[in-house]
Amino acid sequence: LESTYSLAEESNMIVAVRVRPLNAVECTRNSVTNVVHVHGHNELSVQAGSSADASAGVSHFFNYDQVYYSCDPHSKNYADQLAVFAGTAQPLIDTAFEGYNACLFAYGQTGSGKSYCMMGIEALDDAALDGNAPHVEAGIIPRFCHDLFRRIDAVKDQLQVEVEVSYFEIYNEKIHDLLSVQQALATATEAPVQRQALKVREHPIFGPYVVDLSAHSVDSYSALRNWLAVGNSQRATAATAMNDKSSRSHSIFNIVLNLTDLSSDDGQSSDTDSGTVVSLRQTRRSKISLVDLAGSERISASGSNGERIREGVSINKSLLTLGKVIAALADARKPAGGGSLTPSTFVPYRESVLTWLLRENLGGNSKTVMLATVSPASLHADETLATLRYACKAR
Ligand code: ADP
Repeated sequence: LESTYSLAEESNMIVAVRVRPLNAVECTRNSVTNVVHVHGHNELSVQAGSSADASAGVSHFFNYDQVYYSCDPHSKNYADQLAVFAGTAQPLIDTAFEGYNACLFAYGQTGSGKSYCMMGIEALDDAALDGNAPHVEAGIIPRFCHDLFRRIDAVKDQLQVEVEVSYFEIYNEKIHDLLSVQQALATATEAPVQRQALKVREHPIFGPYVVDLSAHSVDSYSALRNWLAVGNSQRATAATAMNDKSSRSHSIFNIVLNLTDLSSDDGQSSDTDSGTVVSLRQTRRSKISLVDLAGSERISASGSNGERIREGVSINKSLLTLGKVIAALADARKPAGGGSLTPSTFVPYRESVLTWLLRENLGGNSKTVMLATVSPASLHADETLATLRYACKAR
């Protein structure tokens, strides 16, 4: 018995899946088998079933825009960090230079490789850096930032680009700045501080934003890398203090570009009547959000204390809302729906903090990439199936 899921054609949404290798523990447990099989670059199947032995289960087939197989370096379908970056995030640099917003998020159960995809390992360790370039195992965020500054440098005669970054996490629907200077100082001196939860408001032009979130101008990759290091260490500190909270929070790294066209003329023109000088230079603004979502696993009610259950509810709520938002956008864009969003399309952005803040990056002309990460291990077969289904609904 087999079931097949496939995708609609045209979309501003790219859905990719990455399969991580079996880890050392999984490899040594002989009851664990590999139940995810990749068939070319955009199809995979998973054997899952109700019995304890997933390998005896039903095969479910799925199609995506891209399937990245990172299990076996000898496979012809093998994809490393560079391949994943090149196929998912790199095209968003063009989107941003055109003045459109973009969003990429990693979705999957805890331990399936979201952080490995987004941040990678040793990417921020100077010793591992080769001439300031990202390390071979660097993930999407450092690679994106490195490439961004390379692009900015290449077009600097025609385009002036100002870059601003912010980094925050959402935990239980509450927002915490990961780049606040006070917080960084307190972390460095190990002084205990009460972390401030920030509020969301709506700007008439730029849409929902986080009030008092720190934003930092950066003019080089190394300056940006320093802020990333600050944010990652704040994230890690908070996670340790609260029993591995990082798997239960969403982290959002925002890059805002202010682009000014320098090529058209000298940028100024005199209004001879009034004698004033007005700028004719074209400016554009775009925002890219790179998001490492909370683990998608359901927290079972049994054995959970009240706090865990509450967390589970809010994580599921934002991931559920994200799913609904993406499905609504996908539906509205289908040819039957006229191919574009109509005013009557209801998209439930407001139902979670995450989707409300990503509103400007998800609808309209924005480009969205969903990177679903899965484990190939039989013991995770049911979660893998749930992740693959979630990712399929995005199209
Ligand atoms: P998550 O963020 O989803 O909880 P992680 O990114 O922390 O998961 O991955 C769990 C472990 O698996 C980490 O030790 C990570 O280095 C390893 N890992 C994940 N994906 C890969 C991959 N594609 N190749 C090699 N190791 C990986």
